[in-house]
Amino acid sequence: MSDDATKSHKPVPAPDDLSRPFWDAARAHRLAVQRCAACGYYNHPPRNFCDACLGRELAFTPLSGRGAIYTFTVMHQRDVAGFEADAPFINIVVELAEQPLLLMVANLPIGERDRVRVGAPVEVWFEERGDGVVVPQFRIV
Ligand SMILES: [Zn+2]
Repeated sequence: MSDDATKSHKPVPAPDDLSRPFWDAARAHRLAVQRCAACGYYNHPPRNFCDACLGRELAFTPLSGRGAIYTFTVMHQRDVAGFEADAPFINIVVELAEQPLLLMVANLPIGERDRVRVGAPVEVWFEERGDGVVVPQFRIV
């Protein structure tokens, strides 16, 4: 079997200066997002100014990795590049435990269809996509 056969063909992140700490933390199997030093608000995706107070002192801080499903949809279309073989699957939006509306997008296998519901508790896990790319994902607990 060639290396290529084991590689994921899903899209991979393209970290920039703003998002690199998030992806570096994921590579170390840690979930970290920006937090404002002035007011304590968590900002995700990363940005230059705090959403709550416009402060500029934003530093990445580890999270618990726990949350709950905020909303979800079952994806049947097979035309999303890299996800053709996974369909149908479940797109989820997770509200992280640290703050209301601190949201992160992930997906679940269709086998979870009977368990998925708004409010279901989840925890983070880390999907290895090859070449050092690691993507935070969530599973129902
Ligand atoms: Zn702030």
